[in-house]
Amino acid sequence: MHALVYHGPGRTAWEPVPDPGLARGTDAVVRIEATTVCGADLHIRRGDVPDVAPGRVLGHEGVGTVVEVGDAVRTVRPGDRVLVPAVSACGACPSCREGRAGLCTGGGGWVLGRGIDGTQAELVRVPFADTSTYAAPEGMADDELLMAADLLPTGFEVGAHHAGVRPGDVVVVVGAGELGLSVVLAARLFSPAHVVVVDRAEARRKEAMGFGADVLVDDAEEDPVAALSSFTDGRGADVVVEAVGAPASFELATRLVRPGGRIATVGVHGAPALLHLEQLWDGELVITTGLADTSSVPSLLRLISAGLVEADRFVTHHLALDAIAEAYDLMEHTEDTGALKVVLTPRR
Ligand SMILES: [Zn+2]
Ligand SMILES: [Zn+2]
Repeated sequence: MHALVYHGPGRTAWEPVPDPGLARGTDAVVRIEATTVCGADLHIRRGDVPDVAPGRVLGHEGVGTVVEVGDAVRTVRPGDRVLVPAVSACGACPSCREGRAGLCTGGGGWVLGRGIDGTQAELVRVPFADTSTYAAPEGMADDELLMAADLLPTGFEVGAHHAGVRPGDVVVVVGAGELGLSVVLAARLFSPAHVVVVDRAEARRKEAMGFGADVLVDDAEEDPVAALSSFTDGRGADVVVEAVGAPASFELATRLVRPGGRIATVGVHGAPALLHLEQLWDGELVITTGLADTSSVPSLLRLISAGLVEADRFVTHHLALDAIAEAYDLMEHTEDTGALKVVLTPRR
């Protein structure tokens, strides 16, 4: 088969590799019918995720058909159309028993395209297949289903849910890339009064309105703290979600939140950020970090089926799987390309 192989910082190639087989009885092999490139993949390609070894097949989001299962797999059968989410669940460790597979200590967690070969390939071996795949709902398009692999659960779980968005809240999302937009969409499910988006790119701010933002702040032109005060009587936001992964945006989040408010970080950070405890020590803030557990996938699939989450709104481009290098380029230059999610499908 062919796959996208990481060869060290800045270097990836679509090239022939051996087909994956079953390594354990709990594995399944899935033929990929749709995959995508995530912001995390860009971080890996840049060399920001040093635990990814050269030779690794990247990718952690997939939709496909099961071709082979191990003898210990009970619920997944060859021929099943499945979603392969970013996070694998051993199903048995204390974290998995709590529905926190992102923290799995039994060999799961975010391992696909990181610790083991991933989904940017014609075939992928999925560990713990019973607890690490979801049956595709009848009639759901690949584009919609694929968004539930990582992007939607991250916005829903690490953004809206960790931050505890409640009806009537003023929610600020710093950064309107695909992750920030996913947070906007997820936050709206909890009926906040306002969803404010802070971003300096006009195209991204406009996009955010379509996802449910009702106040847009250009932080290149105005001070977001001042802009926010008209909605909150100078109090600040109930919830701020940092969706950039830069020290300055985290520090901005700490200035936007009200006393007693919540900050959730969903961005992947590559450098330390300052926490001004000399100003915030009495602020009773809750700050959360995290990786999606993908425990929200069944709920999200029902919301998509019911038309309450427009998952395919994220899909800006379609490309052939063997043109994946182009997808990385589109995602590296989103300011020019307007790319949110690029869906890659094998040529038929
Ligand atoms: Zn991802
Ligand atoms: Zn586990």
